[in-house]
Amino acid sequence: MVKIESIEAFTDNYIWLVTTNEGSIVIDPGESSNVINYLDNNQLDLKAIFITHHHFDHTGGIDEITSYYPVNVFGPINNVETINKRLKDGDRVSIIGIDFEIIEIPGHTLDHIAYFSENNGNPILFCGDTLFAAGCGRVFEGTFEQMYESIIKLKNLPINTKIYCGHEYTLSNLEFAKEAEPFNQDTLSRYNNVLKLREKGTPSIPSLLSTELKTNPFLRCDNKEVQENISTKFKTIKESKEIFKALRLWKDNF
Ligand SMILES: [Zn+2]
Repeated sequence: MVKIESIEAFTDNYIWLVTTNEGSIVIDPGESSNVINYLDNNQLDLKAIFITHHHFDHTGGIDEITSYYPVNVFGPINNVETINKRLKDGDRVSIIGIDFEIIEIPGHTLDHIAYFSENNGNPILFCGDTLFAAGCGRVFEGTFEQMYESIIKLKNLPINTKIYCGHEYTLSNLEFAKEAEPFNQDTLSRYNNVLKLREKGTPSIPSLLSTELKTNPFLRCDNKEVQENISTKFKTIKESKEIFKALRLWKDNF
């Protein structure tokens, strides 16, 4: 059995903890104390740390955690010196009985990778700050085209993939999605559902890829209504890649 729990960090980060009967891995520990306390209190056996990208709110806890638990730190090729197992596109990591495949998804940062597992028909994806529930990450280091290609890679995963992203941004993302697609009933009902969850303080993550395909405008750049809406708003934009860039820039200032 695979158990996946979130440990909250800072104001809206999620550190993911994956546990099987063979041990635990922690993904993107931006800070350490909540993670160490959780592992101690639940007597969990940490086997590895996974990192998706170099940003401090995803890596800041590595030193402290590895001083308590001297485990391997897997991550992309970047300037985070505490990563001792470097990963690139197509690599596989088998640990705690789960076989993960590495997908390079540059755009938010140039080093960004995702961890995907078929997980015996219950696929799971840890994608940091690239694909969010109902949104996507800002393009800080890569080009819009790189980010678009990365999003397409994730879009092509099995539709029952559970998506574990790095932040609780879902409600504000859906506020934007409602503007981008005013007539999308799935987006409206998702907004109402997430509003209720967040009022209770319940995480809106993970989300299902099938839900994202219906409601995440950044995955819907080839949808006719999205294209028409964006083309009208920003004039003469037609290609999916251009739609993506226009959406992302619009969201930056939303
Ligand atoms: Zn980031």
